[in-house]
Amino acid sequence: MPASPTRNLVTGGAGFVGSHLVDRLMEAGEEVLCLDNYFTGRKENIARWIGHPRFELIRHDVTEPIRLEVDHIWHLACPASPIHYQHNPIKTAKTSFLGTANMLGLARRVGARLLLASTSEVYGDPEVHPQPESYRGSVNTHGIRACYDEGKRVAETLCFDYQRVHGVEIRVARIFNTYGPRMLPDDGRVVSNFIVQALRGEPLTLYGEGAQTRSFCYVDDLVEGLVRLMNGAHPGPINIGNPGEFTIRQLAELVRAAINPSLPFTTQPLPQDDPLQRQPVIDLARTELGWEPTIPLQQGLESTIADFRARLEVAP
Ligand code: NAD
Ligand code: UDP
Repeated sequence: MPASPTRNLVTGGAGFVGSHLVDRLMEAGEEVLCLDNYFTGRKENIARWIGHPRFELIRHDVTEPIRLEVDHIWHLACPASPIHYQHNPIKTAKTSFLGTANMLGLARRVGARLLLASTSEVYGDPEVHPQPESYRGSVNTHGIRACYDEGKRVAETLCFDYQRVHGVEIRVARIFNTYGPRMLPDDGRVVSNFIVQALRGEPLTLYGEGAQTRSFCYVDDLVEGLVRLMNGAHPGPINIGNPGEFTIRQLAELVRAAINPSLPFTTQPLPQDDPLQRQPVIDLARTELGWEPTIPLQQGLESTIADFRARLEVAP
């Protein structure tokens, strides 16, 4: 008898990263339960799989427990953009804490392996640059980003305590800024903001002087890293990100050059606690997972821009 396909639960599966992961697992012939409360996720993102015998969609909020039979839990449910996670910060903290506790409880009960989508935000506004996994971070516990940053920090803590206390198999990915097709036009993160503004012929909004840096990873590279982490032996935390570091102004210049070089920039105040710099050290991912990103920013921007053009119906 052929081995039965792996049963995957993808929480946040209708979101940006989650829907790309769902595609990858479905294309590999696995079973997928996609769970989402549609706060920032959209059914359109996974519409192509609805009705497929290996696919099931569950409307559920991870802050409530759920009983399912699965082998792998990919725990991504959590808003990731500052405007969305700050919209209801108490709910965001609950989603990280209660949501992760519920998913770890499920993993324990059914003997599943759980991968947590943690974040580079656990490093806060880092005093160490670039950031290795050994850096313990500099997070303002009571600032406006804390609901997300501290939420993910306690989610990591829960994972390692469930591993130590109950023997749950865990994998923790520290994901750095990721971009690609399917980001929401009103997502509020920088790549989608700049692309939407440029396609609409509006000025690109630099917060502060745009001198702060980020390192942008294309979503296909991230998904490859997550799959290798889940199927590998190292529990993490492991940084998954692209070490190519850019100022926000450089990003704006790249997007403008690709869409409309005559557009102006405009500045807006830098949000509170906005990290000054961020760049992953990915030595651990290289040695433990044999992973590194393959898609440079300019190339990834091209396909992201094409996707936004199609969705916004802007002629090339
Ligand atoms: P996203 O907002 O597009 O997706 C999050 C998904 O989770 C959405 O579908 C949303 O509806 C769902 N969700 C939110 N709260 C929920 C709840 N309480 N119950 C059930 N579903 C819920 O964000 P994304 O960029 O796809 O991020 C996915 C994961 O990766 C998040 O955990 C995020 O923290 C992490 N991450 C993303 C990035 C990035 O740059 N994209 C960076 C670091 C970490
Ligand atoms: N940013 C910007 N203009 C925008 C949106 C964001 O200059 O329209 C800046 C933001 O201040 C931050 C960086 O871009 O310094 C990345 O912001 P994003 O929200 O994408 O991610 P995060 O701050 O969570 O890394």
